[in-house]
Amino acid sequence: MAQMQQTKNIAIVGTGLVGSLLALHLRKKGHSVTLFDRRPDVRKVEFSGRSINLAMSNRGWKALREAGIEEEIRELAIPLYRRAMHIDNDPVYFQNYGKDGEAIYSISRGVLNRKMIDLAEAAGAVFKFEEKVWEVDLSEAKLYTGESEKGNWEEYDFDLIFGADGAFSRVRHKMQRQSRFNYSQHFIDVGYKELRIAANADGSHKLDKNSFHIWPRGKFMLIAMPNLDGSFTCTLFLPFEGENSFESLQTEPAVQDFFEKYFPDMQEEISGFTKDFFKNPTSALVTVKCYPWTYYDKIALVGDAAHAIVPFFGQGMNAGFEDISELGRLEEVHGNDWEKIFAEYQEIRKPNADAIAELSYRNFMEMSSKTADPDFLLRKKIEKNFTEKHPEKWIPAYSRVTFSEAPYSEALKIGDRQAAIMDEIMQIPQIEEKWNSAEVENRILKLLQNK
Ligand SMILES: Cc1cc2nc3c(=O)[nH]c(=O)nc-3n(C[C@H](O)[C@H](O)[C@H](O)COP(=O)(O)OP(=O)(O)OC[C@H]3O[C@@H](n4cnc5c(N)ncnc54)[C@H](O)[C@@H]3O)c2cc1C
Repeated sequence: MAQMQQTKNIAIVGTGLVGSLLALHLRKKGHSVTLFDRRPDVRKVEFSGRSINLAMSNRGWKALREAGIEEEIRELAIPLYRRAMHIDNDPVYFQNYGKDGEAIYSISRGVLNRKMIDLAEAAGAVFKFEEKVWEVDLSEAKLYTGESEKGNWEEYDFDLIFGADGAFSRVRHKMQRQSRFNYSQHFIDVGYKELRIAANADGSHKLDKNSFHIWPRGKFMLIAMPNLDGSFTCTLFLPFEGENSFESLQTEPAVQDFFEKYFPDMQEEISGFTKDFFKNPTSALVTVKCYPWTYYDKIALVGDAAHAIVPFFGQGMNAGFEDISELGRLEEVHGNDWEKIFAEYQEIRKPNADAIAELSYRNFMEMSSKTADPDFLLRKKIEKNFTEKHPEKWIPAYSRVTFSEAPYSEALKIGDRQAAIMDEIMQIPQIEEKWNSAEVENRILKLLQNK
């Protein structure tokens, strides 16, 4: 039974997407909320050239709905009903995400963040920008902010502190000094750079605006998502070293040749790419895992601070928003027993965070190394064929992750089971010829019963 609510004085370190959503949730419950960010107010800074677009899916929408801001955010988002695959010089082909108008939503991280800070401020949260947190007293829930690591810090005293300070979290850094705190970080050998496709002169989009565009090119890949102003934000995922890599593309002619060679039918659309390539930063991609995520009833990590993942499933923010949903649900159950809330929160969320980290990493491996592999393509063809015939029996991992709210760990488990079935199917002699036969279909049905 829910205990009597008792409001707390709570600090959130980080005013990114997850921190500002948490502020809204906590304000709804009546807590006093103060947020700190080392950066200036994102609403007052000029656009910096990094304008990541994010794909919002069901889990993200659910958390926004619970915070009472879904409608406002929907106005900033463009639904993407399908993938547009740009395979070499073949005509573009479209794959609908689902039968019932299922969509992911393209939204600019900067635009979303500004709006959420506005809404959290209107709800009574206090924002302190350009105040970097240097030190945290875990057992006393005290924060120390200031201009330099050397000291002369401001001290703040809270009841609880949330670390929503991203993949290189300072709050987590402090927790790492505790005995039995587990931590790992892993960078992949692919980095990314943002590039832009400008709008047409009349403000319309140059490519289909309701698609998630993908140009798979073996070891590298380009994606594009639409913005409300008619432009597209594109992300080029490219190895740091090797034949086509950030290391090998150092001069303007080399970059120009690269774009001409691999995107020959797109020259008009991507005319600004070479300039962007040199103007915009190259960034790395990291998976961070740690445990525990909480310290008694005082401290908890949320979002990327607890679980940074590679972006190949489009779930980092969605997973962070789901952390906030879960905390909200647990507060309903346990009232003001924060030790219980935190203990259950980390127990429930950790396996799911590990699962989406694994699924995202596998998607990276799949996109980067398998898209040209005939065996892999045949597997996908068989799975697609079977899903179309038996949609209730074979929900692909992508749909489970993106369009459902079932735990990520379930999506991983079922995905593994499906992979084991497909391993057996691929052993059928002459599978290349029989792939859409009744024999294969019946075999999958039988294996589904047994596994
Ligand atoms: C290329 C790319 C594409 C992505 N695409 C998607 C997608 O399509 N869908 C999706 O769901 N997710 C996506 N993500 C993931 C998503 O961007 C992150 O998961 C999400 O932004 C994490 O939010 P956060 O609030 O936890 O952390 P952050 O956004 O990193 O915010 C942390 C905040 O803490 C502040 N801070 C840090 N240290 C301190 C300190 N010591 N003191 C005070 N403040 C501090 C920072 O200034 C920052 O404002 C993508 C990520 C990348 C890199």
